[in-house]
Amino acid sequence: MSETLDRLLAESRDRLKAAGIETAALDARHLISGLLGLSLAALMAQGGEAVDDTVAARVRAAIDRRAAREPVYRILGEREFYGLTFKLSKDTLEPRPDTETLVDCMVPHMRRIVASKGACRIVDLGTGTGAICLALLAQILEARGLGTDISEDALATARDNAERNGLAGRFQTLRSNWFGKVEGRFDVIVSNPPYIRSRVVDELEPEVKYHDPAAALDGGDDGLNAYRAIALHADRHLEADGVIGLEIGFDQKQAVTALFAAQGLRLHDSAKDLGGNDRVLVFKRTEN
Ligand code: GLN
Repeated sequence: MSETLDRLLAESRDRLKAAGIETAALDARHLISGLLGLSLAALMAQGGEAVDDTVAARVRAAIDRRAAREPVYRILGEREFYGLTFKLSKDTLEPRPDTETLVDCMVPHMRRIVASKGACRIVDLGTGTGAICLALLAQILEARGLGTDISEDALATARDNAERNGLAGRFQTLRSNWFGKVEGRFDVIVSNPPYIRSRVVDELEPEVKYHDPAAALDGGDDGLNAYRAIALHADRHLEADGVIGLEIGFDQKQAVTALFAAQGLRLHDSAKDLGGNDRVLVFKRTEN
């Protein structure tokens, strides 16, 4: 007997619930709608329809992976961020909704720069999927961006994402360890670097610990290694009235502000994430 969508949905939800997944119903809906290429609304409306055996088998295989704690969007291979769709790969962090706060925060600064000079050059250090830089390029049509990463896999993924979202003409990539191979000055420097303390990485939930790349999470003993590396060379790569926008861990505002202050860069703006934690810091030159 062939399955209906409703029965497959209920079976999937029960399977995930039994595996201890708290968001079982939601995850089952997202996985099935993603695999079938249906919106969530269409999935609910078409619940009585028959599902053929090959599709049901694909859904069950995906549900098995989720039951083993693989994240929904890793299984689907892509995720939405700031209204764009991003392909994920092994060396890219899955874009988080909290990181949209960094994009929100940078857009007005970029509009100001474009209003005064007609253009805006961005560098996104450790670009991963390219999410931050590409979301900014989609918002600010006068901007051009450079995404750097230590991983070729990540850079290939970022280029693919630029292509998919129609932004390839304004986006370039460079293999570089933070500012290592970067040349020239930028109006906007952005980064969501690894900021979790090494010993805490082990305690993260399995979805993060086993599926997000360690290099995108582990910020060293105190979680600040990447900020130290960035702060040291930021001034040399920043235009006179440029801004630096960084995502930080919830308890790192003071420490990161001090690292940049030591290089003549002052805190100019900041933002909290969806949970009310300090999440974004924006720095400028002290004299500006
Ligand atoms: N926000 C991520 C997490 O909680 C960490 C990302 C990062 O280190 N930049 O898993």
